[in-house]
Amino acid sequence: MIINGRSASVYKVDSVPKEGKMNYRFHLEKYKTPSSRHTCPACGQKRIFVRYIDSEGSIKFPNYVGRCNREQKCGYHYTPKQYFIDNPTEKEEWNALPILQKQVRENVEPDYLDQALLNKSLKHYDANNLFLFFQSKFGCGVSEQLFRKYRVGTANHWNGSTVFWQIDQQDRIRTGKIMLYEPLTGKRVKNPHSHITWVHSLLKQENYQLKQCFFGEHLLHENKSSPIAIVESEKTALIASIYIPQYLWIATGGKNGCLTKDNMVVLKNRKVVLFPDLGAREYWNTKSLQMLDLGINSIVSDYLESRASKEEIEEGYDIADFLLQKKTKQMSLHEFVAKNPQLQQLIDTFQLEPVRDKYHFPNV
Ligand SMILES: [Zn+2]
Repeated sequence: MIINGRSASVYKVDSVPKEGKMNYRFHLEKYKTPSSRHTCPACGQKRIFVRYIDSEGSIKFPNYVGRCNREQKCGYHYTPKQYFIDNPTEKEEWNALPILQKQVRENVEPDYLDQALLNKSLKHYDANNLFLFFQSKFGCGVSEQLFRKYRVGTANHWNGSTVFWQIDQQDRIRTGKIMLYEPLTGKRVKNPHSHITWVHSLLKQENYQLKQCFFGEHLLHENKSSPIAIVESEKTALIASIYIPQYLWIATGGKNGCLTKDNMVVLKNRKVVLFPDLGAREYWNTKSLQMLDLGINSIVSDYLESRASKEEIEEGYDIADFLLQKKTKQMSLHEFVAKNPQLQQLIDTFQLEPVRDKYHFPNV
C-alpha cells in the first residue's frame, strides 16, 4: 500500500473557475436532432431539457446539469458553476488539467517517482475494488495476470482505491493516478465527490516536474508487433485487452492527459487505432491529424458509434460498458468453475487455458 496517512488536496481549489472562462468553455448543447433534447429532471417534460457540454470534451457533466426550455412553467437551470460549487473535487480535477498542460509545455526534464512505491502497491488486491470487480467478471487468475502486466496497484488513500501508474518506455514512473471504483459495478465512485488524485501530489514533493505518459506505455517496448489501440480510460484499456487481445491497449488517462505531440512520439512506426468514447469523435479526429504531422498513421475507429443503440448513446456508454455485455470464453469458464469448484483443480493440473476469443475487428 502506498502513502500512509497522507491526505492532501493537491490542486488549488481557491476559487470557482471564472465565470467568463466557464461561459467560453461550457455551453448549452446546440440543437442537432431531437435526441439532443432530454427529459427535464425537474418537471419531467420530455425532449425539453438542454444539457451543458464542455467544448474541450474533457468534462462530462451529469445529466441534471442543464436548462429546461419551459422557462415560465418550470425554470430549472443548473449551471456548470453551480455544479463546481456543489462538487468541489470535480473542480479540483478540472483545475488540475491546466497545471499538467503547462508543465508539459515547459520543456523541462521530468521528475520520476521511486520504483519502491510502485512495487509496494502491487499487492492487497483483495482490498482493491476495481480488482474485485475484474475478479467477479473474469476470475482471479486472468485478473491478476492483467493487473501485474499493467502494474496496477492498490492504494489506501481511500479504502479500496486503485492506482494506475504511468510508466514510460524506459520504465520510469512519471506518476500514479489514484481512483476509487464500486466493487460490484466497476463504476467510478463520484459521490459525495469524484475520488481522483495523484501520487506525486500526495507526496508533496516540491516543484515536482510532472510529464504524463500513456497508461500502459511500458508495454510498448515488450511488444513491438501488435497495433496499438488508444482509449481514454485506464479501466477501458484493461477490459479491452481481455476482449480484444490482438491489440496492445493503452490509455491517455483523460483527454487532457497525455495526447500532446511530445507524448505521441512513442507511437512512431506503429499502427495506431484511436477509440473515442461516444461524443468525442471530433476531438480524436484532430489528434489523429496531429499524429499525421509527426508521421504517425492512425485511424479513428467508429467501433462504438456504429454498434451502440440509441438508448446506449443516451446513457453515455463507453467501450468498456459495451464490451462487458459480451461474454468471453474466460468469463463462461469462470462461471462454470464457480459452480463446479473441483474443475479448477483439473485446470491447474493440466494448465488448461481457454481458447482466446477473437472478435471481428477492422484490420489497421
Ligand atoms: Zn422542466
